[in-house]
Amino acid sequence: MGRPFPYSNFKLVDGHNRLIHKLRISLLDSCNMNCLYCMPAEKEFMAKKSWVSAEELCEISSKLVVYGIDEIRLTGGEPLLRPDFRAIVKRLDQLPLSKFGLTTNGIHLERELDFLKDTSLRYLNISLDSLNKENFEKITQTNTFSRVYHSIVKAHSMGFKVKVNAVLLRGMNDTEDELSKFVEFTQKTGIEVRFLELMRIGVANNYFEKYFISAGEVIDRLKLKNRLEEKEMPKDSTSFNFYLPKGGEIGFIASESRPFCGHCSRLRLGADGALRPCLFMDHGVSLRGLKGEDFLKTLKQTIKLKPHDRIKAVNQAMHQIGG
Ligand code: SAM
Ligand code: SF4
Repeated sequence: MGRPFPYSNFKLVDGHNRLIHKLRISLLDSCNMNCLYCMPAEKEFMAKKSWVSAEELCEISSKLVVYGIDEIRLTGGEPLLRPDFRAIVKRLDQLPLSKFGLTTNGIHLERELDFLKDTSLRYLNISLDSLNKENFEKITQTNTFSRVYHSIVKAHSMGFKVKVNAVLLRGMNDTEDELSKFVEFTQKTGIEVRFLELMRIGVANNYFEKYFISAGEVIDRLKLKNRLEEKEMPKDSTSFNFYLPKGGEIGFIASESRPFCGHCSRLRLGADGALRPCLFMDHGVSLRGLKGEDFLKTLKQTIKLKPHDRIKAVNQAMHQIGG
């Protein structure tokens, strides 16, 4: 038997009595898609030399686990573009996590599935903004629909816990035909589909008035054709979900119209090692090189900055913060 994990008695409870136990790690800020609402035309990516190494990243994560982090999700940018992705997963796999996940655009997912199935990383959120090939390719500005779609189906067939994330944009992918396709997809495959409201982050601030559609409006439209049965969700869930009568499940992440900040239990670690208390805060505090009391002091200070209410908007790009 290995040594027991050296948990601390100090737990990450913030000033609003929220127990912080989830960590999002952005592995890098670059990407192989150009989603209209995420990637600005003028892109600026972090120099590779600024990335936290696999070793340091896992050292920081391990210290955070000591203080109660028990769920980790890898994101970016596109996390599968990180050359040492497997080394990072292998190291994090050693930590006592209750949930280990990945958010990806799916382009390179298929090649990683055999590797991932031998790790504890089971939770895959895959972005697929449209089931209409042309529309998907218009939104992502790539010709990768078939690749992404197949990776979703394959991951599900291999037993991964897959969720599809779709950001709905008014006039782009919110038509009756698009919504029906998503409903049919979840009914047919049993894969949960989550509709994300466009958030006022980075480049999306420029298109917000044009493209935003609320979860409430989408639900009203769906209810015209489908019976939706509300599902009970954990208090700190970012989504609220409905079962469909013929099987399948749809969820809504309504950060704009129904923010969940009051119950937020997350911290975010940037590719440069900066810890952020909130998605909507465009600065973080670096944890690099911090040891012992200094690490804990910085952690406590960062948690104090965690807001209770939704900050209206942030200018920094989503691919830089880590979605
Ligand atoms: N590249 C990966 C992907 O697309 O899944 C991971 C990073 S991406 C920033 C994470 C999620 O954030 C994706 O589901 C994406 O659609 C979503 N996203 C990006 N910008 C957004 C915005 N302004 N509002 C809502 N969701 C956004
Ligand atoms: Fe890349 Fe994900 Fe942003 Fe799309 S949403 S540009 S896939 S980081």
